[in-house]
Amino acid sequence: MPGIEFFGEEERREVMDVLETGVMFRYNHDAERKGHWKARDFEKSVADFVGAKYAHAVSNGSAAVVCALAACGVGYNDEVIVPPFTFIATVEAVLWLGAIPVFAEIDETLNLSPEGIKACITPKTKAVLLVQMCGAMAKMDEIVKVCQDNNVMLIEDTAQALGASYKGKSAGLWGRMGCYSFDFFKITTCGEGGVLVTNDEQLYKNADVFSDHGHDHIGNNRGMEKHPALGINFRIGEFNAAVGLAQMRKIKQFIEIQRKNKATLVNTLSKFPFIQFREMTDEAGDSATFLSFFMPDEAAARLAVEEFKAQNLDSYAYWFDNNYHYIKNWDHLISLTSVNPMPIHHQEKPQDWSKIRSYIPKTDNLISRLISLQVKVGWTDEQLTERCQKLSNAFEAVAKKLSVTA
Ligand SMILES: *Cc1c(COP(=O)(O)O)cnc(C)c1O
Repeated sequence: MPGIEFFGEEERREVMDVLETGVMFRYNHDAERKGHWKARDFEKSVADFVGAKYAHAVSNGSAAVVCALAACGVGYNDEVIVPPFTFIATVEAVLWLGAIPVFAEIDETLNLSPEGIKACITPKTKAVLLVQMCGAMAKMDEIVKVCQDNNVMLIEDTAQALGASYKGKSAGLWGRMGCYSFDFFKITTCGEGGVLVTNDEQLYKNADVFSDHGHDHIGNNRGMEKHPALGINFRIGEFNAAVGLAQMRKIKQFIEIQRKNKATLVNTLSKFPFIQFREMTDEAGDSATFLSFFMPDEAAARLAVEEFKAQNLDSYAYWFDNNYHYIKNWDHLISLTSVNPMPIHHQEKPQDWSKIRSYIPKTDNLISRLISLQVKVGWTDEQLTERCQKLSNAFEAVAKKLSVTA
């Protein structure tokens, strides 16, 4: 999580610009704002970095996903194929629009598999909401083809994938729209913020209108704007955008250091033949926020976690037990517990979520064996060396125990 690792003077300077004028609102007030357009500049910085024609900033990454689905025309009773390994925001966005999430299998890339997607397509399928999970890309050529062949839209939840690409093309540009998050835990942060990217002008306009009560943002006469469509308020504020702008100036450097640090960790783990690294469709395009790998089975993964604890190693995730990222532990989704009535309570779901693991046996097996190590940017050489030593110690202990049980 480098965004919060490197936070200081640059961010302060950008925020001070906003404080100087007091124009915290992203639109209009042209005369008072003294040329400061933080949301616009932030959008441009993301568009330039990603290589997108258009970028639109909103209040957070979850709002970006809702906005992207809405802008693409996804709504009530549409089926949307989603991964069961993601942050639950992906699923919430679909539910919130009255659409129906359908969970498909992932593969060793940790992302939806082309076969998994294909198996879930029905006449009601409107879109695939592909998450580029843990900062690296899915099997894009095959997935684009499955979507095209079946006349289904591809939309990317790229919340975790700023800096990731496949064959030189950034995450977020493979389908109609991509959705980046800049929350407190992402690679660059605004505190709270999200950015949609697209090469389609109409979708960009749809998102812009939808995220601000339908206002068309033409002219500088607030109150007299036209309303091409209904919307809601998902606006980003100038303070958040100012922080994001400062952070985006550092993104290339963050990615470079992460890749270097990840390579050092890979080098350490490569000595252990029982470790199977996550499949990379394009190694050079990994944003390298995590180093993920599979152990031979669940018991071995749990053993590794025990040995990490014995070594006092921090900053790793065993997602199978994690309440945030895998459907097995989303009790509130499975029981559909909500504070208000939702469309999904009255809709026919193609899957019985109380038996969800039986629909996704391959995913369940993969996640039971999966461990991810966070890659940080702020590590000193000594800290990284110490980390590699602890990992070596832990896996040597695991190797010994595995050979006894073998
Ligand atoms: C973080 C995240 C989101 C939501 O972003 P917020 O800015 O926290 O709302 C959505 N999808 C995925 C995969 C995420 O990791």
